[in-house]
Amino acid sequence: MNTCIECGTEFAGRSNQKFCSMKCKNAYHNRHNKAKEAKVIRINKILHKNWTTLHRLYEVYRSSPISMDIAKAHGFNHDFFTHVHHSPIGEKYTMAYDIGFKHHIDNQIQIIVSHD
Ligand SMILES: [Zn+2]
Repeated sequence: MNTCIECGTEFAGRSNQKFCSMKCKNAYHNRHNKAKEAKVIRINKILHKNWTTLHRLYEVYRSSPISMDIAKAHGFNHDFFTHVHHSPIGEKYTMAYDIGFKHHIDNQIQIIVSHD
């Protein structure tokens, strides 16, 4: 006998069969996909928060150097970003979609908006 990994019911079938029914198979996979999806949603929220924070800071400071601590105080989480942009002159920008920043020594950052 097999035991259904979704509902615990014992059933007859191939020894490698994990589910008693399609209903249990679907329920199991739906739940697991939701959990996977929840991780993506959590990260997307952080990225979106970073994006709005950088745009708000840009409204105020434009490309003047500001402390990373100011950005963090506004809710910026610098562990999450969408990509790295390399400028034609070799500068490296950490991006959140269309906006990003250049890291200076001494914990200062300079925000730039991408126009492409
Ligand atoms: Zn079942």
